[in-house]
Amino acid sequence: MVSEDETAVFDDSPTPDPADELVEEAASAPVAAEAEQEEDWSGAREPRYQVEEVIACFSPCGRCGYFLAGYWATNGRKNFATAVRRAKSGWITLSWNMTVRELVLKSFGSYIEEDNLHFEGCCSECHRHFIYRASRTPNHPHTFRIEIKPRKR
Ligand SMILES: [Zn+2]
Repeated sequence: MVSEDETAVFDDSPTPDPADELVEEAASAPVAAEAEQEEDWSGAREPRYQVEEVIACFSPCGRCGYFLAGYWATNGRKNFATAVRRAKSGWITLSWNMTVRELVLKSFGSYIEEDNLHFEGCCSECHRHFIYRASRTPNHPHTFRIEIKPRKR
């Protein structure tokens, strides 16, 4: 009697549908799983910023807002969006050119000379820091990094 009941329970358990199994296997294909994992990992490592978010951080300050508006106007949205996507540890690396040099002078009053190898400055209003670093090798461009959010000091 007991063994009969056990058999009945066993028989009631659903038989795996071969079609279901096939779908599951396709969904967890090794390539797809790997790509997803990588995305998650980098997402956890670095907070991702949105273009609008970065603009919102700069606009409350007159000097920084002026700088960013000027950068946007001369280098374009695409250039800025790329910089935002590559932002690291709260810093955004912008393209360096004559226009940016002029913008830094007009916005922050800092004149970065052509032979400067390293220049660190900060906005006199909100104390947002920026760092210019001249290229050490011909293959690398000069870099201009600026904080996304001014740190409380
Ligand atoms: Zn500022």
